[in-house]
Amino acid sequence: MPEFNQDLQKYNRQLKKGFNGLRFNAGLEAEFRTFFYARNVVKQRGAIIVGIILLLGLVPIDLRLIDGEAAHFYLLIRVWITVPLLLVALAFTFRTSQQHYFSLFSFFIIIFIGITTNIQVVYTMGLGQFAAYEGLMLIIMVAFFLGGMLFRQSLACIIIISLSYLIMSELYLSTSSYSFHRYYFLFATCLIGGVSAYTLEYQLRISYLQRGALRSLAKTDPLTGLYNRGAIADKLNHLVEYGHREQKPITLLMIDVDYFKNYNDCYGHIQGDTCLVSVAQALIKNCKRPLDFAGRYGGEEFLIMWFDAQPNEAKTFAEKTKATLDRLNIPHANSEVATHVTISGGMITGVPDRPDIQAAILHQADQCLYRAKESGRNRIIIQEVGEDHSISSVVK
Ligand code: GH3
Ligand code: MG
Ligand code: MG
Repeated sequence: MPEFNQDLQKYNRQLKKGFNGLRFNAGLEAEFRTFFYARNVVKQRGAIIVGIILLLGLVPIDLRLIDGEAAHFYLLIRVWITVPLLLVALAFTFRTSQQHYFSLFSFFIIIFIGITTNIQVVYTMGLGQFAAYEGLMLIIMVAFFLGGMLFRQSLACIIIISLSYLIMSELYLSTSSYSFHRYYFLFATCLIGGVSAYTLEYQLRISYLQRGALRSLAKTDPLTGLYNRGAIADKLNHLVEYGHREQKPITLLMIDVDYFKNYNDCYGHIQGDTCLVSVAQALIKNCKRPLDFAGRYGGEEFLIMWFDAQPNEAKTFAEKTKATLDRLNIPHANSEVATHVTISGGMITGVPDRPDIQAAILHQADQCLYRAKESGRNRIIIQEVGEDHSISSVVK
């Protein structure tokens, strides 16, 4: 199947190419991130609330082990700085326009919590009191799974925190036979968390691409690869509303292949299918701008829409479309109008002055197509609009 539906191509190409580095092509990556952050924000809110509760729950337990200077330092860092920071992060999750910055914010907060935990552990142990380094493992898990970050970000975050721990404990703590265990457990936590987080994001990315491809496939005509009728209806709605809002003209060309039943009778259905694919390929060549599109309306009927083409330009588009098809020169021995496959078309162009005239526009283009057929086929009839270029001056 030729793939003209660019969305489908986009997802399929990325699926084929793979993404071991957990990064898509630029445009798709931006699209995925928007989806990722929007999806994460509610989860984030819950994670922060749980984080605050766990952190506050730990305070009395930690304070059983430390006192004096160490306890003061602990309370300052944990209760007076970290908790307010988490509350700010919580408030952040309610600002949907800031979603993109949330993971960056999260990145710095987790690094802050990690490094201050390290300082506190090293400082307290340096004072000869006991501090639980295991908290660091929890922070690693939070960074991998609850920070709302992509894997690469969490990994950077964790490397910074773990290195800071290694450096501080090497510099300020006397080596004990247990320190190798501590490093080993930390390394194991990073490894297990890292592999799981990588796999999780990989799966999420795969399902994102597959869902995107399926959504596009549902809009695609399987024979020609053009948009199908359902997608045409959506696109038409969108363009009419957009054209109405922006006061820009839209152009709709409805096309029908001439004497196509005769073509099938003469060359067979398989050859007929091939002919329809060639026609589709010729039509799509004339849709160059992002909002333009071509679809298969049904059978041997097609539809092209151009956005923001002035009347003269639209007329040229129509002529070019017909010329592209004539140039294909597909032999049609059973046609009564030419020796090759030809098309008839009905076109309407103008500014949609109501947002709900889709059906009327289609009907009007169909009427023009009918007139083109009646007046001998192999031509395009263009519906003239009034001086103001408004479509409702001609549609009933
Ligand atoms: P006109 O010039 O008036 O348009 O005549 P026509 O023969 O093109 O129109 P008609 O509506 O009588 O016939 C359309 C034909 O298109 C009949 C049908 O078999 C054929 N057709 C529709 N869809 C397909 C398809 O997917 N593949 C093939 N091979 N033929 C198709
Ligand atoms: Mg027809
Ligand atoms: Mg026909």
